[in-house]
Amino acid sequence: MLTIPWSRTSGWGQPKIGPRQDLSFDPLAGVLQYAVTCFEGMKCYKDEQGQLRLFRPNKNFDRLKRSAARVGLPDQWDNAELLDLLSKLLSLEAPIVPAGDGDNLYIRPTLLETSESFGIKEDAFASEALLYVVTSVNLGKGLYASSEGSGLRLDACDKYIRAWPGGTGSYKLGANYGTVSVAKQPGFAMSLWLHTDGKEAFISEAGAMNVWIIKEAKDGFTEFITMSLDNGIVLPGVTRESIITLLNDHASGAKAFPVEGMPKNIRVVERDISMNEIIEGLKDGSLKGMFGCGTGVVVVQIGLIRYQDVEHTIPTNPLIKLLRDTVTAIQRGRVERDDWSYVI
Ligand code: PMP
Repeated sequence: MLTIPWSRTSGWGQPKIGPRQDLSFDPLAGVLQYAVTCFEGMKCYKDEQGQLRLFRPNKNFDRLKRSAARVGLPDQWDNAELLDLLSKLLSLEAPIVPAGDGDNLYIRPTLLETSESFGIKEDAFASEALLYVVTSVNLGKGLYASSEGSGLRLDACDKYIRAWPGGTGSYKLGANYGTVSVAKQPGFAMSLWLHTDGKEAFISEAGAMNVWIIKEAKDGFTEFITMSLDNGIVLPGVTRESIITLLNDHASGAKAFPVEGMPKNIRVVERDISMNEIIEGLKDGSLKGMFGCGTGVVVVQIGLIRYQDVEHTIPTNPLIKLLRDTVTAIQRGRVERDDWSYVI
């Protein structure tokens, strides 16, 4: 693991790479008392030449800064230096990075408050913190494999709300994830999180994925619709942003790198998606598919949603696999796209 201590008086301390080991803190440490912690999820891929690659790592580092600022953790560092340290860790781990398609080494940068935090904090900022990075082989692979064929089964959860306007849903805080397991129902891959405006239920995300629907618009275009980031409810996913760019470039012909096999008359729409829209879209046939995207699964088809005791089967759509193939080709370095794939 890579560890880098931080204190308010002396800033970032000496980074260390060593065997993974237990950490010890005061029982009143901010992380233990008030969940003052945030994290990131990234993947390292081994390409066909045996090189290690990261996918847009600065996006994750920037998001970690944004999350850190939200909970009063240190949010100033040089991304290039952090990338260099991470690269050193990964180079040591190169022998355990698997090379097959779908294989990866998952990377978990974590930042937490180690200083004592007791009572109502007068000062919102941590005085001591620790940034560390540990890894794990092949996260997300099993979930993707289980979806092959008919897609993931999701349970639309209207009992617990994951995020709301002004809340912390759009930050990658530990506190957002500890509430997931009570909602998860047997027989379903994960919860589909909903929020409401008091009248209707809207989709926010599913598990650790941003959600998309594919619809046929009245003008004959195929629309790829995903939740907008405007109300701060969904996590701004790196995969989400990459798919938006790929689809927009494909539609406009701006880049010489289209999504192979994708029709030209497509458009991306970022807006709210209600459960009623999904149910109506299934009735009138305009809903053509649904998928989730994220570092863990990359792109995965959603096959069924249970909502208020009714199971809704979502049509499968071959365009979802085209997107998955395009993103994985870039991640694994088979296709070059700007500087999205960083070679260690
Ligand atoms: N939503 C949530 C809640 C997540 O935890 C993740 C995983 N980071 C995502 C969406 C997808 O984000 P990304 O594409 O950056 O992995």
